[in-house]
Formats: sequence, C-alpha cells, structure tokens
Amino acid sequence: WHRWIYDDYYRTYLLPLEKYGVKIHHDDVSAAWDRIVKKNYVHKVAQFFAVGWPVNFWRIEAQTEKDFEWFEHKYPGWYAEFGDFWKWYARKSVPGETNMLFDQENGYVYPHRCWSCMVPCLIREEFVVDEVEGKLLTYCSELCRWTHKVAFAAEYEGRPTPAMGRFSGRREWEECYHGWDLADAIKDLGFARSDGKTLIA
Ligand SMILES: [Zn+2]
Repeated sequence: WHRWIYDDYYRTYLLPLEKYGVKIHHDDVSAAWDRIVKKNYVHKVAQFFAVGWPVNFWRIEAQTEKDFEWFEHKYPGWYAEFGDFWKWYARKSVPGETNMLFDQENGYVYPHRCWSCMVPCLIREEFVVDEVEGKLLTYCSELCRWTHKVAFAAEYEGRPTPAMGRFSGRREWEECYHGWDLADAIKDLGFARSDGKTLIA
C-alpha cells in the first residue's frame, strides 16, 4: 500500500501536476494512507462487495482457516475485527441459507453510499450528511462532501462547472431500484440468462 500511495500515486502522478499549476494538497495523501491502512478501509470494502453477490456478476468465495492466518499475519488484529464476519459469510453463502444482505442474525448492516465517490460510507467516524439542492445526501468523508458540494457545484470560484463535471443522474444502484422486487431488479440489470437462470446460480 505504501508503494502504491506514496510512490505510484503521489510521486509519479500527483507531484508532476504541480508544474502545470495544479495545487496539490499534500496532507490528503497521508489522509488516504491512514484510511486505507489504519482505518481498515480495504477490509470494509471487501465485506461490502462480498455480501452483495446476489446482485453482482461475481462472487467471492468464503475464506478458509489458511486465509484467516494469511490475513492475520499480514494485517495484525484483522481476525479480531473481521473473523466473525467471514465465518458468518461462510455459513450464509451455501444454498438454502439466507444471504447475509437479507439475513437478520449476522449483524451486518448495509451501509449508505457516498454520493461523491460512490463507494459506501464505511468508516463510521468519517461519515457525513449534507443537503444539496434540497436533498439530503450521504458522504464517506469530509473530502467527498466538499468535492460534491463545493468543488463540483454549478459554479466554483466564479467559473461555471461544465455539465460533465456535475454529479447528477442515476448514480446509485440502491436508488434506481428502490421499492423494486429483487427478481425484477436482477432481470433489469441483465443478469438473467435466456434459460432463466442467473449468471451465478
Ligand atoms: Zn466518498
């Protein structure tokens, strides 16, 4: 992660932009590092994408004891925070069980989505709500809130924002299918094959 954030992203991509007059907020880079590494962001994203398998076109296998050992070795403390989740995942991802998304007993709560980056709001202490054009929206972090409400407002520092930069339209899966029957949503997504089966089951 260190090499990816500091060497690839920061040193070879962000820093060279300075010579074109782009202001780089250097603190944001270490904030990104803290999120990914210290606040377990990647592990929380993995949980989210794993539980959603019935409405995705891929499925993450349940983890084995060997995987648990690998994660704990690589990320000390991982097992205490995520071990139970993945045990539930294994129990609930076999035919006949209710998937974790819809099952009440496992304790996983489907998160709100960030209107800015579109990744769910997974770090509780960074969760932000704000009102834009009369609508309450959720954001994963202050930076994402600022990006939508300030930087991508209709006008930024006196200059109009081009239409392609606006955060409008059907942005959230959850909002597009709010109130739908799940079977209809899966058909609408094109995930049902001509024989009536889904891509994964
Ligand atoms: Zn975000």
